[in-house]
Amino acid sequence: MTETEVAIIGGGAAGIAAGRRLSEAGVPCLIIEARSRLGGRAWTVADADGLPLDLGCGWLHSADRNPWVAIVEAQGFTIDRTSPPWSRPSLPGVFAPGEQAEFNAAMGAFFERLSAAVAKVNNLGKDMPAAAVLEPGNRWNNLITAVGTYISGTELQNMSALDFELYDDSEINWRVKEGYGAAIAAHGDNVPVLFDSPVTRIDHSGTRLKIVTAKGDIAAGKAIVTLPTNVLAERVDFFAPALPEKTRAASRLPLGLADKLFLHLDHAEEFETGGRLFGNIERAGTGTYHMRPFGRPLIECFYAGQCARDLEAGGERAFFNFAVEELTRHLGSGLAKRVRPSLMHSWGKDPFARGSYSYAVPGAASERGILARPVDERLFFAGEACSTHDFSTAHGGYLTGIAAAEQIIACQKF
Ligand SMILES: Cc1cc2nc3c(=O)[nH]c(=O)nc-3n(C[C@H](O)[C@H](O)[C@H](O)COP(=O)(O)OP(=O)(O)OC[C@H]3O[C@@H](n4cnc5c(N)ncnc54)[C@H](O)[C@@H]3O)c2cc1C
Repeated sequence: MTETEVAIIGGGAAGIAAGRRLSEAGVPCLIIEARSRLGGRAWTVADADGLPLDLGCGWLHSADRNPWVAIVEAQGFTIDRTSPPWSRPSLPGVFAPGEQAEFNAAMGAFFERLSAAVAKVNNLGKDMPAAAVLEPGNRWNNLITAVGTYISGTELQNMSALDFELYDDSEINWRVKEGYGAAIAAHGDNVPVLFDSPVTRIDHSGTRLKIVTAKGDIAAGKAIVTLPTNVLAERVDFFAPALPEKTRAASRLPLGLADKLFLHLDHAEEFETGGRLFGNIERAGTGTYHMRPFGRPLIECFYAGQCARDLEAGGERAFFNFAVEELTRHLGSGLAKRVRPSLMHSWGKDPFARGSYSYAVPGAASERGILARPVDERLFFAGEACSTHDFSTAHGGYLTGIAAAEQIIACQKF
């Protein structure tokens, strides 16, 4: 049986951060990863032209306090500080400036009502779905819902208003030209990893932990579990003895769905770099499109919530057809001949993710703390869903990985 002091289950942003921190502190550790690569939901893939495309996380959110920024710079990768497309006006001719101003005001008012309502119900120890503060009959409710799905991967009626409000966003958003996923994976370069080894169970009944993997058992003194919540929730027998509190927390912090499709675009120069548009401002199930990211001949298409779920059911062709339908409606039928699918990934179908990023169901904001709480000073938990204020992000994952590693280092000192 392989032996290690600390077994880190999962080599995404959280597992890599924990592995690096423990290695630096001289604590023997081993990342046990189901895939044949590091990064998890951070994944940069080169397209046919060799362009590095982020199929998972792409934005260094809260970049002015995001710990990945310093790491990325130390790696010699390039940070693009251009303001993100969603902070700029939509393409002219697609969304009339007067209507955009009206929508922006409605979105701002929605967030203000959300803050006020949360402050009120939180005093009473209550929560509600974020959709409760939509103004009945407001013409922008569908588009506000669409933006809510981009942020949380699910519709406003499914998510906790309190949790949504607890998210801390400095609104500074940067990108990594060579790929955020590539930078995150590279950070794990010198950490020992066992690849292609899905963990099926952690037996914590004995004096040493027994980590059961497809490649045999591993004995460990401690473990840091960083599995995506949807993966954890679907395995009630993952821990032996069972930890129903953890399974319940994971199931109440599900991963919403967001998928990207990259389209190669011929004669791209016609479009301004970084332009953007919504597919349909009248519906909640619509894509958002980023033209020529980094000036590349591409369109980055983004779908979330039920819209992404429906498209995943139809396969990659369904994504492409939907994108062409939404784009040609605004940009003319000639565009259909100028685009072809480049890369995409269906995160909902991915057996080691089963979704994109976590949200809390109404009433479950406090489950993040429950998920993060260690068990018997032997089982530690990390991963974006464990973060109270930076959940759903790669820097949230990083910070929880560091926190779990620090807890273990503190235990070793006594
Ligand atoms: C389309 C998309 C867009 C996104 N955009 C952004 C963005 O712009 N900015 C941002 O900050 N975040 C974004 N995110 C979210 C971000 O990618 C995640 O929050 C973050 O990468 C999660 O890191 P993690 O370590 O918590 O989990 P993961 O990266 O999921 O790591 C968990 C690891 O566990 C492994 N694993 C699973 N099951 C097993 C098993 N049984 N045994 C062993 N290993 C297992 C997985 O393979 C994975 O490597 C996006 C995500 C997606 C999908």
